[in-house]
Amino acid sequence: AQRLFDPLKDFAEKFTVIQAGFTAIERVSDILDEPIEIRDRPTVNTRFSMFDAKFGYIDEIAADLESENFQTTPELGEIRFEHVWFAYKDDDYVIKDLDFVIHPGEKVALVGPTGAGKSSIIRLLCRLYEPTQGRILVDGVDIRELPQAELRRYLAVILQEGFLFAGDVKSNITLGDRYTLEEIEEAAQKTNVAQFIEQLPLGYDTQLRERGTNISSGEKQLLAFARAAIRNPQILILDEATASLDVGTEALIQEALNQLLVKRTAIIIAHRLSTIRNVDRIFVLKRGELIEQGSHDELLQQGGMYATLHNLQMLGT
Ligand code: ADP
Repeated sequence: AQRLFDPLKDFAEKFTVIQAGFTAIERVSDILDEPIEIRDRPTVNTRFSMFDAKFGYIDEIAADLESENFQTTPELGEIRFEHVWFAYKDDDYVIKDLDFVIHPGEKVALVGPTGAGKSSIIRLLCRLYEPTQGRILVDGVDIRELPQAELRRYLAVILQEGFLFAGDVKSNITLGDRYTLEEIEEAAQKTNVAQFIEQLPLGYDTQLRERGTNISSGEKQLLAFARAAIRNPQILILDEATASLDVGTEALIQEALNQLLVKRTAIIIAHRLSTIRNVDRIFVLKRGELIEQGSHDELLQQGGMYATLHNLQMLGT
C-alpha cells in the first residue's frame, strides 16, 4: 500500500536522516532508531583516503604547506554531480538529471519551493541514499568508492536546529570523538560559543538536556557550528535556520558562520532569499530539476523564477 506523504513526518525524517549523515552514523542511529541502509561495499579499500587520492602522500601536503608554492596547491572540496537521477520509490523521480560542478571553496545556495529536492540532494551527497542513475564525485572520487567514515570526515552538515544529546557540552561538540580540551576550546572560540559556555555553571562539563531545553536556539546553533568546526571539514552543508533570533544573536551567528565558511566549499539550503545575496552561485530547483543558476545579480537580470520569488519577498518585507 502506498502511504501518503506527511510533511510533519518528512520534517522529522529530514532532521534525523541528515543528522545521521553528518558525523557519527552509528551513534546517532542508535539513539534515533534510524536504520542506515547503505554500507561500505566489500570492495571499498577502507585505508583509502581522499587526501591520498588527490596528493599521493600526506607528507607531500606537509611539504607543500611549508613551501612557497602553497598558494598554487590545488584546493580540495570539489563536488560533481554527473547526470544524477534519483527516486525514493519506483520511477517517481525527485532528482532529474542533475549535472553540475561546485568548485573548491565555492559557496552555493539551493533555493526552491518545498519538495523541490533540496534535502534529497544533500542526502545523496552524504550517501544516505544512492543515485538511481549517474554519479556523485567529491574531489574526483565516486563517493560509492569511499569508506563512509572518510566521507563523514570530509563533509559536515549543520542543521537548522542543532541536535543535542543528553550529555555535557564537551561531548556535544566532540560527539565522542577524541579531541583535546584545547581543540574543543578553540572550536568554541572560533564559533562565538565560548563566551556562552564559559558562563555556564560547570563550563564545558555542564550537562545539556536532550532537546536542549536549557539553552536558547541561537546557542544551539553556535554549538552546532563548533561541532562542525572541530572536524575541520572540507565541505560544509548548512540548512539555514528559519527561527527568528534577536539581532545580537543573529550577528554573532553570521560572524561565526562567515569564519566557518572561509576556505571551505559550502552548500546552503536557503529559506530566506535575503541571506544568500553574497553566495557565489544560486541554484534554483523545481520538481527535482535545476532550472536556473547564477549569481544574485545574474538571476535578477534573467527575470526568471528567482527574480519573481525575490520580488515577492521584497514586497512582503
Ligand atoms: P525539499 O528539501 O526541497 O523540500 P525534498 O528533497 O525533501 O525537497 O523532497 C523532494 C521530493 O521527494 C518531494 O516530492 C518529497 O515528497 C519526496 N520525498 C522526500 N523524502 C522522501 C522519502 N523519504 N520517501 C519518499 N518521498 C520522499
